[in-house]
Amino acid sequence: MKGLCILGATGSIGESTLDVVSRHPDQYNVIALTANTNIDTLFEQCVNHKPECVVVVDEVKADLFKEKIKNSDLSTIKVKSGSKALEEVSTLENVDSVMAAIVGAAGLLPSLAAAKAGKTVLLANKEALVMSGNIFMQAVQDAGAKLLPIDSEHNAIFQCMPAEYVAGESTKQVRRILLTASGGPFRETPVDELHNVTVEQAVAHPKWDMGRKISVDSATMMNKGLELIEACLLFNILPDDIQVVIHKQSIIHSMVDYVDGSVLAQMGNPDMRTPIAHAMAWPDRFDSGVEPLNIFDVKQMDFEEPNLERFPCLRLAYEAITAGGIMPTVLNASNEIAVDEFLNKRIKFTDIPIIIEKCMNQFSAEIVDSLEVILQIDKQAREQSYKIIEEMFH
Ligand code: NAD
Ligand code: MG
Repeated sequence: MKGLCILGATGSIGESTLDVVSRHPDQYNVIALTANTNIDTLFEQCVNHKPECVVVVDEVKADLFKEKIKNSDLSTIKVKSGSKALEEVSTLENVDSVMAAIVGAAGLLPSLAAAKAGKTVLLANKEALVMSGNIFMQAVQDAGAKLLPIDSEHNAIFQCMPAEYVAGESTKQVRRILLTASGGPFRETPVDELHNVTVEQAVAHPKWDMGRKISVDSATMMNKGLELIEACLLFNILPDDIQVVIHKQSIIHSMVDYVDGSVLAQMGNPDMRTPIAHAMAWPDRFDSGVEPLNIFDVKQMDFEEPNLERFPCLRLAYEAITAGGIMPTVLNASNEIAVDEFLNKRIKFTDIPIIIEKCMNQFSAEIVDSLEVILQIDKQAREQSYKIIEEMFH
């Protein structure tokens, strides 16, 4: 029986994780759940999974939640608040595995704390890894923690690696990684119409049902840019050895090209419960609840090269990882601000890459040697992004 903590339990990945957990009550025991503000979903999850403790980051919502718990028959559940409490629950002694499913930089510290405490980290929160790079990978290695990718592409790549493969190792047998992408909702929209797209159109992903931030990232293809950086770190491979492939059917979730000419692919229906169940059962396998792939329904599989003019965010991610140092931190922070402004209807879809590029131009690729530097650069890049937006629109 393994103890589980889910950071970001109320999100799309968090909910899918609990769906998988409910199929295996003999293998996983839910110890801790965390949410930012969504206390209604969290309460329902408490009823179904009876965790020992929960964190509601927002203090006001946490007080409301405490009242709700006190007046229920769940009064033994401990309720904590504030972002520091996330680190407390991700390192609890009876927690073996931590699902890192908070969106954005807010997930870095609790995920890193879990890694430092030697937990098995199931990593969905790609922004945490992208912004902290080698610091995160080093922490995993130093603590002897296990890092298993949840992002469907990286989970697919991991599955196609040699059986004994450990994240962070380099592999001479691998020639290239083929990182697949659906191309998002605007794969074929004429480029000169992109400035008119609405938030509703941008979050309506054709293949995956996800949170709002990652849905916009998929529409700009910054998601693939972040995943490119994530793959460089997880698989210790150079960006030039990763080919992004647009595969609109989203049946193949990525491929590994070996030196002997073998290309291994992982396939399945696009449902995050597959990579979640894979990582939770690893090195074993168990049922995820995902419909079996009907190969006869897959009439055709298409593959094309991405157009970097249509998707400037992907170009910026290539530039950031190639420059190295703090640039991925800057890219990620600026993207978080730009996407948030777009979701709040304050900027246009096509302003997102303009803001990020202007922000990146204000930094040089100095080396990252500590967590403090990362947190400071993240803060500066956010401030710069707001300044740039202010200058562009006022
Ligand atoms: P989501 O928006 O549905 O959920 C986000 C979760 O994070 C919620 O539980 C929310 O309460 C919590 N949260 C948000 N801001 C917070 C803060 N400041 N402090 C603490 N908690 C906070 O997002 P999602 O789609 O589940 O994505 C989660 C992560 O997984 C992202 O990094 C995303 O890139 C990655 N991911 C998601 C998918 C997917 O299919 N949804 C696939 C691959 C990777
Ligand atoms: Mg992905």
